[in-house]
Amino acid sequence: MSARILNGNAIRDQIYAEIGEEIASLRAAGIRPGLAAVLVGDNPASKLYVNSKIAACKKLGLESFQLTPPASISTDELLDVIEGLNRRDDVDGILVQMPLLPQIDSKLILDAVDPAKDVDGFHPVNVGKLVAGRPNLVACTPAGVMEILRRSNIPIEGANAVVVGRSDIVGKPMALLLLHANATVTICHSKTHDLPGTVRRAEIVVAAIGRAAMLTPEYIQPGATVIDVGQNVVTDPAVAEKIFKNFPEKIESFRAKGSVLVGDCHPDVVQVAGAFTPVPGGVGPLTIAMLMSNTVRAARLRRELPTGRLGAHVPASAAVPAGRQAAKS
Ligand code: NAP
Repeated sequence: MSARILNGNAIRDQIYAEIGEEIASLRAAGIRPGLAAVLVGDNPASKLYVNSKIAACKKLGLESFQLTPPASISTDELLDVIEGLNRRDDVDGILVQMPLLPQIDSKLILDAVDPAKDVDGFHPVNVGKLVAGRPNLVACTPAGVMEILRRSNIPIEGANAVVVGRSDIVGKPMALLLLHANATVTICHSKTHDLPGTVRRAEIVVAAIGRAAMLTPEYIQPGATVIDVGQNVVTDPAVAEKIFKNFPEKIESFRAKGSVLVGDCHPDVVQVAGAFTPVPGGVGPLTIAMLMSNTVRAARLRRELPTGRLGAHVPASAAVPAGRQAAKS
């Protein structure tokens, strides 16, 4: 058996088409949603991420602003930058690229972002709203996983879902989103007893561990849907050749480039799973798509305009109309 491949690039394109229409209708009404990206210092990986986010804004017609404070900036100075963005009416979304430098108190900075502009969904107010099942801005990667599941018609209601990983940015919000979609959710972590047995009970597995190829076929119930969030760069030829023993084209590509991107699931899982997100080309493309979607959503919520289905990651029954929500919070 070989799993159905859940193509994140195709789903991202579908979502971009929908967001493009929303942006066009907002612009016709004189609103151009804007995203501000704060990039401190010159970490090459962070630069690459911010560049792709700005490129996505340009592609979709979102306004984008890039702020690049120097690596020497202090927490207080960065707080002033954030406060300035909070006050600007042309900025609907603020993202602070992580990781910040060691002299900066990351928690203070993230907490200073206006929750209404927190398009990464990291602010405690937005995390609380997610727990409470109220419409909000949800962390992008888990929100993207929900889009993959829904748009691929994977049944979620009543399903046993196991999330491996309990980070604030992936594992915890992922588990809550699945719970709101009526899955029966188990969260696993490094202290979980009998991880293989627990994961094997899952009809939906979400792996967000940060360990290359850790979940081998033995962890997977035949026919399960496997969502691989992991993005691990492998540079050791012996490791790459062992992982991709059954994928000669991947070994060829490794030899040409000197590195390969590997998920948290072993590629052989494709022979057991019913559906599977590849790495790359699975969850990754959805993360930026959800950032774009959150920026449009934030633009609408801030103006008390009705929000569409896109980016509404809690069931309509749990939703509070935007106006009432604004009045309450
Ligand atoms: P993280 O903060 O390091 O969290 C990893 C989680 O995995 C922790 O909860 C940890 O448990 C658990 N874990 C580690 N080793 C384990 C083991 N042997 N058995 C069971 N659980 C174990 O990582 P993250 O930020 O959530 O990211 C996870 C992965 O997703 C990484 O590969 C990252 O690059 C990737 N990622 C991808 C995207 C995307 O856009 N595709 C976005 C974000 C992250 P403890 O809590 O007990 O330590």
